[in-house]
Amino acid sequence: MTTLAEGEALSKAIQGLAETFGDRIDLREEERSKFETDFGKVVFQTPGAVARCQNAEQVAEIIRYCREHKVPIVARGQGHTQTGQSTTNGGVVVDTSAMQTIHSINEDELYADCDGGVVWHDLVVKVVPMGFVPPVLTNNLGVSIAGTTSVAGLGVASYKYGTQADSAIELEVVTGAGDIVTCSREHNADLFNSVRSGLSQFGIITRVKTKLRRCKQKVRMYHLLYDDLGVFMKDAEGVMDPDDTRFHTLESRCAPCPIFMKRIGDGLKLREGAQLYAYWTYPMFLTVEYDEGDEPNDEELLKGLSYHRHLQTDEYTQEEFCRRLEPVFEIWHNSGNWQMAHPWMETVLPWDKAQEFIEFALDNLPPQSLGPAGHILLWPSRGDTSDVPFFKHPGGDFVMGWGILPAVPQQFLDMALENLDMVSKLSIGYGGKRYLSGFITFKTPAEWEEHFGTETWERFKAAKKTFDPDGIMNPGFINYG
Ligand SMILES: Cc1cc2nc3c(=O)[nH]c(=O)nc-3n(C[C@H](O)[C@H](O)[C@H](O)COP(=O)(O)OP(=O)(O)OC[C@H]3O[C@@H](n4cnc5c(N)ncnc54)[C@H](O)[C@@H]3O)c2cc1C
Repeated sequence: MTTLAEGEALSKAIQGLAETFGDRIDLREEERSKFETDFGKVVFQTPGAVARCQNAEQVAEIIRYCREHKVPIVARGQGHTQTGQSTTNGGVVVDTSAMQTIHSINEDELYADCDGGVVWHDLVVKVVPMGFVPPVLTNNLGVSIAGTTSVAGLGVASYKYGTQADSAIELEVVTGAGDIVTCSREHNADLFNSVRSGLSQFGIITRVKTKLRRCKQKVRMYHLLYDDLGVFMKDAEGVMDPDDTRFHTLESRCAPCPIFMKRIGDGLKLREGAQLYAYWTYPMFLTVEYDEGDEPNDEELLKGLSYHRHLQTDEYTQEEFCRRLEPVFEIWHNSGNWQMAHPWMETVLPWDKAQEFIEFALDNLPPQSLGPAGHILLWPSRGDTSDVPFFKHPGGDFVMGWGILPAVPQQFLDMALENLDMVSKLSIGYGGKRYLSGFITFKTPAEWEEHFGTETWERFKAAKKTFDPDGIMNPGFINYG
């Protein structure tokens, strides 16, 4: 690949970009500094310019200029990644939040045609009153459709419908070569299969046709508490059975019941002789959709499940259910959580190894290390619902996602990163596949090859050569060797 512009050559090229494209390019320090990091607040690097485009043609002009002048370029939706995946050191960040149009809703073929920068929240509030919902929604709806399509986009209905990248029917992409290409499973499938979960390595998604499904307007949610992970998993297998259509979504967590202090070695030093510990429980949240006047039969629905306690039953409208975590994010903002570092470590484990790994990890996890409102994600899914080649998971009938999602004050960050990296490596040792929007420390091509598997890694590298021949797209995050 070609050497990218650096230092004075990069500054000159950026200056030239602003002169060529005028208002579309923002060089102001206060604007560029808004893009110096992401939700993770672990990696800090300031872009040389912010580009705000209205359509694919405008994006293509910027990419062609960057290609000619060897300027790095990265796409950014809402910047919710956690190790700088949506940042660039001195290059151009394409802020797709300027592309916010929902072009049409096709009620017969069941899809929405949206600009890549549209956030899921805006699509939800438009389509739910019409009787539709995107099949898969992430917990946080304040993220862009292209942003999650470029990572995967996992949600509480993924065990049925795969990822949000699976929900994509057709994409408009500006490749790293500067070509505007429409792609789908049938046309230009190589590009379609590359940009989905492609982390902006191959091009910029400017438009997405994404699936919708018909939905009912009421949602009932059952909060079921398990205190045994094995029993939880057995029940989850039943709920996820394709023949079992009782429930619409399955959500879960590992919830600590802090006990006190336990001995872990000799002496009285914290983390050497003693540590705080928790008794871990596993809430399972199941929902059922229904129409007003056609109330679900709770007893019938929950029959056969072996939970420890039925804690709570909640009623939502469909829109409220989709947006149900907004109060949680409000707490994060109010508690200072949102402003802290978030080196989130999510991994997707083989079903048969998940219990051993999770119980070991939780046994060694002092609950206070999660910080205010940090939490542990538990995400059971079927293993056959995604056909996105670059979204890696271990396969098998079922898989188990698991994640430590802490909020870390800066003074504890180094220690937290070291520990999280250790857990990440251990999960990989257990056959886990890391979720790539999180805290990723892969440095070498060998680590990337291990993540993707040799065959997929070869496809990834070949796609890079084809669609980004000069290596300008999001350089640095993935080491191609
Ligand atoms: C509070 C919170 C909750 C979350 N919950 C979930 C969850 O439930 N499920 C889940 O899967 N994830 C979840 N995430 C992770 C989040 O969904 C992903 O990081 C997602 O990619 C963020 O979308 P974004 O618009 O912020 O994208 P960005 O962070 O801006 O970008 C993500 C990646 O995609 C690339 N990209 C962005 N736009 C484009 C484009 N137009 N074309 C090509 N590449 C592009 C970027 O370069 C970057 O590599 C959560 C994150 C947070 C902070």
